[in-house]
Amino acid sequence: MSEFDLIRRHLTGLGAARADVCVDIGDDCALLRVPDAHELAVSIDTLVAGVHFFPDCDPDALGHKSLAVGLSDLAAVGAEPAWATLALTLPGADEAWLAAFAGGLGRLALAHGLRLVGGDTTRGPLCISVQVHGFVPAGAALRRGGASPGDLICVSGSLGDAGLALRQHLRGGPTDAAARARLERPTPRVALGLALRGVASAAIDISDGLVADLGHLLAQPGLGARVDLARLPLSAAVAGAIESDAHWDLPLASGDDYELCFTLPPARVDRLAAIAVRAGCALTPIGEITRDGGLRCILPDGGDWHPRRTGFDHFADAP
Ligand code: ADP
Ligand code: MG
Repeated sequence: MSEFDLIRRHLTGLGAARADVCVDIGDDCALLRVPDAHELAVSIDTLVAGVHFFPDCDPDALGHKSLAVGLSDLAAVGAEPAWATLALTLPGADEAWLAAFAGGLGRLALAHGLRLVGGDTTRGPLCISVQVHGFVPAGAALRRGGASPGDLICVSGSLGDAGLALRQHLRGGPTDAAARARLERPTPRVALGLALRGVASAAIDISDGLVADLGHLLAQPGLGARVDLARLPLSAAVAGAIESDAHWDLPLASGDDYELCFTLPPARVDRLAAIAVRAGCALTPIGEITRDGGLRCILPDGGDWHPRRTGFDHFADAP
């Protein structure tokens, strides 16, 4: 089967039909219309076999995750998903694999009203890049730099489940099914990002671990933070793992959570409950932005937690 047949059969028409797509897959460029008075939010993520996923992983889940990580970036700035492009490097023309991959990607695209409008296909070691595009009213995007001392720090969902599933997999023992679902099919918090526009003072998605990503919200002169570890939202499985080894790395410094971390001026705290309902996920205050002092994580017994590691860094952590 030729490259063009593969594209036509499996990658054309993925996701939602949209009136703002003037020219879809099939020409040299997609032609797209951005609504008046909006900015285009653009982000790209690459997943490399053996680095970001196991080469033999379920292709449907991989299709889902390849798009989910980009949708999580759109969520973090409060953008409404619109389009995606896909650069695929495949070791061969495995139709069953590609059909399953396209199925996982296409279902998540449809669920978010997004259209796959183009891409590139090459032969080589398995590697997937997805670029996502979304809309945000001009000037209304959530940014990393807006937090102030006194703001509440909140996170969505629960932390550390993906890290737990990865750890269990690497140890070769039994894996917790719910944790594995979080690792393989993360839920991007798109509705939450939209609901936080005009409410949150700063936001980021947690892809490298809370400590590393919250650190990005503090990268302004004079900002620090205090996080109370007893308040972290944890699944029973992650709470159990911490109880047995007393290491907080799972919820603080393992990757792939794809929850949002955001800050909230104290005067807007009463809006949190309604936003959680609109977003369909739990929202938990875990601490406060402070004046200076870096990031302090307070253990349940009142002591300070010192990280063994702060998050994954492809260059610093490479073997
Ligand atoms: P060109 O050679 O002009 O770059 P291609 O032959 O690579 O175009 O692609 C033909 C059409 O198929 C283009 O519209 C392109 O966007 C689309 N396409 C190619 N690969 C993919 C892919 N992996 N996913 C989605 N669309 C793709
Ligand atoms: Mg061309």
